[in-house]
Amino acid sequence: CGIVGYIGNRGSQEILLEGLKKLEYRGYDSAGIAVFTDKGLEIKKSKGRLAMLEDKLKGEPLEGSVGIGHTRWATHGKPSDVNSHPHTDNSLKFSVVHNGIVENYLDLKDELIAKGHVFVSETDTEVISHLVADEYNGNIVEAVQRAVKRMRGAFALGVLTEYEPERLVAVRFASPLVIGIGEGENFIGSDIPAILEHTRNVYILNDGEMAVLTRNGVELMTTDGDTISKEIFHVDWDL
Ligand code: GLU
Repeated sequence: CGIVGYIGNRGSQEILLEGLKKLEYRGYDSAGIAVFTDKGLEIKKSKGRLAMLEDKLKGEPLEGSVGIGHTRWATHGKPSDVNSHPHTDNSLKFSVVHNGIVENYLDLKDELIAKGHVFVSETDTEVISHLVADEYNGNIVEAVQRAVKRMRGAFALGVLTEYEPERLVAVRFASPLVIGIGEGENFIGSDIPAILEHTRNVYILNDGEMAVLTRNGVELMTTDGDTISKEIFHVDWDL
């Protein structure tokens, strides 16, 4: 339902939680974040209000300057801790937040199970994290491109891998996603309010487009891998 992502030099946990709060008006049943900490890619998530996630984070915050966050409106699998996003794969090296529905997730899931993948949730989204991991051979951008080619339905995605902690990959297909351009930091959001506190300069992705964010830049391309350029949209309204 709601996506926010950050890559920069500030603590990401606060930025993700604040961004998710701005998206609360959309409604949700669970929330979670994934952050690169000095232990690797760590995920905390919880069914219920954002306050419940914040409770979980109180004693043990996720410290790191790259992360993704999500508020979920369940479509596949009941609201529960394990069905909440971000999702990961068996290696725990990949993490995905997703808005929308992967229509062919059962076929993909069967195929991945046959290859040895073990699933822990009932969601369509968990299939994406396993699929990206399965397609990965050293380049997260290409792995995501191959994965989305196999997916039918509607999706906005934020993807991180511990193998490439300097990149945050975002994809839009029939579910909205914007990229926020900062200085020494960049953002993703399913809606402008999620990032407006930090920047007014955004790229609005169209269907079939993706973005690769680093701290110092944003590369735009199609999901086929063709580089594109886009005008920066300046947000001139306030919340
Ligand atoms: N289909 C996904 C799920 O049920 C994402 C739902 C959403 O957009 O929040 O987990």
